[in-house]
Order: sequence, then C-alpha cells, then structure tokens
Amino acid sequence: MTRAAVIGAGTMGNGIAHVFAQHGWEVALVDSAAGALDKATATIRGNLDRQVKKGTIPAEAPGEILARVKTGTSLDAAAGADLVVEAASENPSVKFAIFEQLDRIASPGAILATNTSSISITEIAARTRRPEQVIGMHFMNPVPVMQLVEVIRGHATSDATTASVMETARTLGKVPVEVHDYPGFVANRILMPMINEAIFCVMEGVATPESIDTVMKLGMAHPMGPLALADFIGLDVCLAILDVLHRGLGDDKYRACPLLRRMVAAGQLGRKTGRGFYSYDSGKGTG
Ligand code: NAD
Repeated sequence: MTRAAVIGAGTMGNGIAHVFAQHGWEVALVDSAAGALDKATATIRGNLDRQVKKGTIPAEAPGEILARVKTGTSLDAAAGADLVVEAASENPSVKFAIFEQLDRIASPGAILATNTSSISITEIAARTRRPEQVIGMHFMNPVPVMQLVEVIRGHATSDATTASVMETARTLGKVPVEVHDYPGFVANRILMPMINEAIFCVMEGVATPESIDTVMKLGMAHPMGPLALADFIGLDVCLAILDVLHRGLGDDKYRACPLLRRMVAAGQLGRKTGRGFYSYDSGKGTG
C-alpha cells in the first residue's frame, strides 16, 4: 500500500497527512472547507520546518514531503487510495454520510479507517458494504509526535484488515495497539474518568486546579496534569466522550461531573476559548 486519502484536514487530519507523506505515501487530503486545506498545508510546512531545525529530517525533505500531499474538496480523490483515513468532525451523521460515499468511491480492495475518538466502529462499518474492511485508526494529538495508534476492530473487521493496518502503523514509525470496539475504546475509557474525578475534586473544594495537577505530575509522573490536559482537549469534547461512556456502558461511574457540564454551558471550553480550569489570556494558567 502506498496511496492514502485523508478525509478532514483539521487538527488531526493535517498531522495524519504529514506522517503518511513523510513515510513516502502519496496523500490525497480532502476537506469540505477549502480554507481548512490552506491552513493544513501551512501547518504541515511549519511542523516540517521545525523537524529540520531539530535535525530529525534533512533540509531538502519538506519540499519533497509536501509535494506528495495533494489537496482537494471532493471525496472523489479517495478513488485511487489503498487506505482511507477519515478524520472529519466528530459527528455521527457526518461520518455515516462520508462512509456511505467512500464505499461507492473507493476501490473494492481499499481499507476504510476512521480516527473517531468515541463513535462506534461497528456502526460506521454497517453503513458500508465492506464492514470487514472498516477499522478504527485512532491517532493521538499531535500526530507527528505521539507514538500510539489505537487500532480498533469493529464487530466485523477481518484479521487481514487488522494485520494490514497494524503493519501500516509500524511503517509510519508508530506503535499500534489492537483493541476491540467498546465505548471509549481503551484510551478514553481510562483517561476520561480520571479527568472527571479531578473535576469532582475541584467542585468539592478538595484542592485547587494547580494543586490537583501538581499531585498528578509530581506524584504519578504524568507529563501534564488532568485539568491542564482537559483544557487542551477541550471541555466540550471531554463531556461528549463521558456521555458516550455513560450511555454506552450504562454505568453511573461515568456520570459527567456537574461542574464540567456547567463550564461547557458557560462556554468555558479550555484553551480554544481562552478559559477553562486555567486562563490562557496571558499565555500562562492562572486558575
Ligand atoms: P477539527 O474540527 O479540527 O477538523 C475536522 C475537519 O473536518 C474540519 O476541517 C472540517 O471542515 C472537516 N469536515 C467536516 N465535515 C466534512 C466532510 N463531510 N468532508 C470532509 N471534511 C469535513 O477536528 P479534529 O480535532 O481534527 O478531529 C477529527 C477527528 O479526530 C474526530 O473524529 C475526533 O474525535 C478525532 N480525534 C481528535 C483528537 C484531538 O485531540 N483533536 C484526538 C484523537 C482523535
């Protein structure tokens, strides 16, 4: 396999396109918003330049890598791909519509992967006539830096599809981990309850956000505290994933903290709005 299509050129899509192109793949990067494609190309260029400065790729590499990324707004660009990785907005109806179209457009042998954080791979696969060739390929943010790819098998995903995607992830320099399709997979099923518990600690006045993050950084050797991480991910995204866990697993231990729900209602979504558990106006958290 050497030709990939990446659908969605936002935070994750540009990083996924970057990593495939860096490892020699021809990449068709598709987004319904033309502006997102210009922004993605600029982001890839900036990140490649940083890699040159760090000495991890040679000075002539960025031009060669960028030349392998072709952008466009039509899903038809997926026709020539061996592997399609969908990284469009986290909205079930958006993803279902994309997979119905990809199933018609992509070649019969192509594997259709999704980078979803919380939507059922099995449900996405059921929108196609090739559910055995549909799989989760869950990259972490920032994609060029983070090693892990959670490879999620839907109910019908075949052994051959899984083996092929595990091998592809390795050739991209990543470490793939195979998991099964249950709500939140592994990463978010474990991470989100920890973040939620940290928010309960804030709500109950157990300690300040800075203190809670310090306990987890210095006591557990986490590189980032759970509240700083929640601000980075986006509090709306955390709430949506907790609701998926609560609904999908039916256990009240996944009940989102009322303070999280209130902050989302107030529009305090973390870094992207300048305020969450910390304030980012001055570039430094103030709680
Ligand atoms: P984003 O909002 O930054 O980008 C999504 C892009 O999809 C946008 O540019 C949008 O224009 C495009 N899009 C929407 N509908 C489309 C369509 N029909 N066809 C083509 N493009 C379309 O989102 P993101 O943070 O990059 O997340 C993308 C996916 O990756 C989601 O499924 C999310 O759950 C998952 N994910 C995100 C993170 C993260 O930290 N941001 C981590 C792991 C997985």
